[in-house]
Amino acid sequence: MTLIREQPSAKTGGNPFVSHCSIKSGRPMSTLDVKKIGSGVFLRYGDVRLAFDTGIKGETTLLSHPHSDHIGGLRFAHDIIATQATFDTWSARGTEPVAKKTVLDIDDMFGQIGVNITPLNAGHVLGSAMFYLEFNDGLTVLYTGDFNNVDSLVHRAAKPVAADVLITEATYGEPTWIFPDRRKVYDSILQAASETIAEGRTPVFSAYSLGKSQEAIALLQSGGFRVISGNTSIDKVCKVYGNHGVSLKHYTMKSVNVPEALESGAVVVTSSLRNTLATARHQLDKKSIDRLEQNTDTFNLSGWTLAKFAERGFPLSAHSDFQGLLDFAKSVDPRVAYVFTDRAGVFSKHLSDSGINAVALE
Ligand SMILES: [Zn+2]
Repeated sequence: MTLIREQPSAKTGGNPFVSHCSIKSGRPMSTLDVKKIGSGVFLRYGDVRLAFDTGIKGETTLLSHPHSDHIGGLRFAHDIIATQATFDTWSARGTEPVAKKTVLDIDDMFGQIGVNITPLNAGHVLGSAMFYLEFNDGLTVLYTGDFNNVDSLVHRAAKPVAADVLITEATYGEPTWIFPDRRKVYDSILQAASETIAEGRTPVFSAYSLGKSQEAIALLQSGGFRVISGNTSIDKVCKVYGNHGVSLKHYTMKSVNVPEALESGAVVVTSSLRNTLATARHQLDKKSIDRLEQNTDTFNLSGWTLAKFAERGFPLSAHSDFQGLLDFAKSVDPRVAYVFTDRAGVFSKHLSDSGINAVALE
């Protein structure tokens, strides 16, 4: 089987790699066609047509996880393949897929005409999956979606597998984005919580409701803090984590005496402080609301806090950093890599410099 590199196209502006390649096998030659559609990808190979994290009328979608930028276009999908945890967390966040659902377990292969599909752990959020495809003629493709190659307290690291073709995210695909060791980030967060409480203030950690909040809750609990979740959206997702074996014993705004908890040094994890304060106005007396509004220090938990214009916070990310993306791609050792998401152009150049044929999907 030989991969044939095609001539540069006008679209790729001189990049020697184009957004499709041809595979020579014992059978009539098939062309692999990979396109970016919305924030996802559409792949065609022989008679197989698959969408990833996007919806195309009449086609099957492989969904890596249900963050909003991945489910936005799925109303068009004919059917959706994902893990049970992905469907459960999607539902917990208030919407439901309209398309037919097929549930796959991580590492369980699913055969379709022309291709076998295996979801692999992506390490990004509960149930998040990469997809490994084995076509009938032997071509293998790995699609990553969002992935994290580092273990966290609540998610196992994604592991690379060898594939002929890699389709990878590149959210942090520039060398400026190198995250500190996760244990050090954890220690910094716990230290900030201790110091803030020692100053008589309430530490509030801002993190999105699916994945990051659960990691923050697990961390702060491991540090011995009493953790209050500031949003019902976090509570609902935590419940799904519990149903899938990740127990998170936090307090909700309703299950705890918030004024008393804040006085005794509790910490708050929120996905929206505005929403937390709105909820508080219904449940707390004025003194407690004033305390929440005026006597708190907010820390963002995000990889973006590393930037020079950083908000106050810590670089706790659910994505691989630049080195992680690069190491992962090298381990997959593909004959061609397609890069989508922001920074696709920059990261594909770095892949090319590392000896991997790379195409930015734009
Ligand atoms: Zn995501």
